[in-house]
Amino acid sequence: MKPWMARLTAGLFVSAAAFPCLAQFPLASVERACERIGGRLQSVGAQMCLASNLKSGGLASHRGMPLLYRDFMPGSSRRTPFRVLLIGGIHGDELSSVSIVFQWMQKLEAERLQPFHWRVIPALNPDGLLPRQASRVNARGVDLNRNFATPDWSADALSYWKRVTRSDPRRYPGAHALSEPETRFLVAQIEDFKPDAIISVHAPFGILDYDGPLDPPQRFGYLRLQPLGIYPGSLGNYAGVTLKLPTITLELPHAGIMPSASQSQRVWADMLRWLESNLPKADPPLFERLDDPNWLLR
Ligand SMILES: [Zn+2]
Repeated sequence: MKPWMARLTAGLFVSAAAFPCLAQFPLASVERACERIGGRLQSVGAQMCLASNLKSGGLASHRGMPLLYRDFMPGSSRRTPFRVLLIGGIHGDELSSVSIVFQWMQKLEAERLQPFHWRVIPALNPDGLLPRQASRVNARGVDLNRNFATPDWSADALSYWKRVTRSDPRRYPGAHALSEPETRFLVAQIEDFKPDAIISVHAPFGILDYDGPLDPPQRFGYLRLQPLGIYPGSLGNYAGVTLKLPTITLELPHAGIMPSASQSQRVWADMLRWLESNLPKADPPLFERLDDPNWLLR
């Protein structure tokens, strides 16, 4: 091998090692990501996605899609507003869970008097969402909702997957906890934003589930409480049980069909009401944890 070729090869090797996410795929711009997400979802469209003013959170999926978020500030004058983190599309084949979060972002844009500081991540798993054949798992075949660093992960995640799911490829928890850029991105967002509550939207079970320290909501619109249980590495287990953050899982009834406008509105209104009347009841108050450097220990 000629010396210049060796240098070039070495350079390529270093680049690939330093940026594993970008080894094969160039990083897409936010505009390009929006064109693709909007093109994928009939009820969103590229224009609506672009108008959402999403920002890149600095991490990309394996296929180079920037992981996007947007903050909405409260309209009321409460000095320390409660913070709510809203997430769509942890599972890429649950298209309605991404579309409804875009719809609710439009609501947040319009409802200037709502009382919360929101951080919204509409499509956590773009590599699962974007292919013609969408997939629950990300591009590396990992179920992101089994990849969070729960205390039981090392002991249980892989054995649970093999024993209970019979190694279902749709539920593979990854080689180790937080092995995926999407889960590392979400944990970084939780550490940075310090939410008082987390809402994660899924489909298609048509229910709501709750993990965390408060009395669970009984019903949001047509979604009624039906606990699904927790799993090694799931977000409810990580955020609700381990971090003790109120964590609501919304399961829309169809992955490919959006709720009607009135169904979506009722779920939204009931959810806001529950957050407003229940977040202040947390004991100790949620905001006190912000001063506690140990609250995120894991
Ligand atoms: Zn799901």
